[in-house]
Amino acid sequence: MPTGSVVDQADIGTSASPPPFVRLPDLRNRFARRAARLGHLADGHPLGDYLALLARIAAAQQDALGRLGPGTMPAATGRTPLDHRAPRGDQGWLPVLRGMLADLRPDLTLPVDVEALADRVLAHDPRPDDLALAPFVHAALEVWFTRMAAMLDPGDLGHERSLTTCPACGALPVASTVEATGSLSGSRYLHCGLCGTAWHFLRVKCAVCEGTAGIAYHEIEGGGGAAKAETCDGCGAYGKIFYLARDAATDPVADDLATLGLDLLVGEAGWARAWPNPYLAAERPR
Ligand SMILES: [Zn+2]
Ligand SMILES: [Zn+2]
Repeated sequence: MPTGSVVDQADIGTSASPPPFVRLPDLRNRFARRAARLGHLADGHPLGDYLALLARIAAAQQDALGRLGPGTMPAATGRTPLDHRAPRGDQGWLPVLRGMLADLRPDLTLPVDVEALADRVLAHDPRPDDLALAPFVHAALEVWFTRMAAMLDPGDLGHERSLTTCPACGALPVASTVEATGSLSGSRYLHCGLCGTAWHFLRVKCAVCEGTAGIAYHEIEGGGGAAKAETCDGCGAYGKIFYLARDAATDPVADDLATLGLDLLVGEAGWARAWPNPYLAAERPR
């Protein structure tokens, strides 16, 4: 068994008003925050070179986001307002990709059918020869979907129900956080790995199968309590929870990558990871 298992507290919060169901991405600092976080995490980390590359990619994403026009939404499918599986409404993401490659990897060339490559990356199903391009392709799509998601009306996404995929774009979450400030304090949010939308989800409840029995929390001994794996005996899956009271600078994508030791710990104990990290391209959802 992993060390340091604890029982989490209920989703009590500290405010009388319920937390908002969705929080759309903030275009002003969405990727700048992540770039700073990755730069911090890269220092002395076993994956430091890759985290440092992703920090440069995140900085380029923030620059590109500031230049990207409103764009055209994908056709509505009825599933979510911004369906990540629907044909893209425009190719606004492609100049973002070309710009990042020109700055960071001018040696890489795009295939003729770049939209098919994008579909494989979004499905977390890249081919072996996609792997070098995959982080850049995801980064460009992430900028484009984030730009679109920020245009949505939170009122249109305000379902008072349990959702295990993003209410804005339908993609899987990458991780969850327990908030630490103001009226959000104590509430848990799942974070979309594509468009950056966060949505409220009860604590001590499996965010994969929605079961509430057999939930436990594990952390690496001496880890300080900022990152835990929430395991579910009902479905055998786990996802990560980051506690912002322990580290307010957490970025779900960056901190997920920097805590792969936690994945090894719970993976060896028999739980399967529920959510792919988009920057670990070889990984597929269960
Ligand atoms: Zn999303
Ligand atoms: Zn479960």
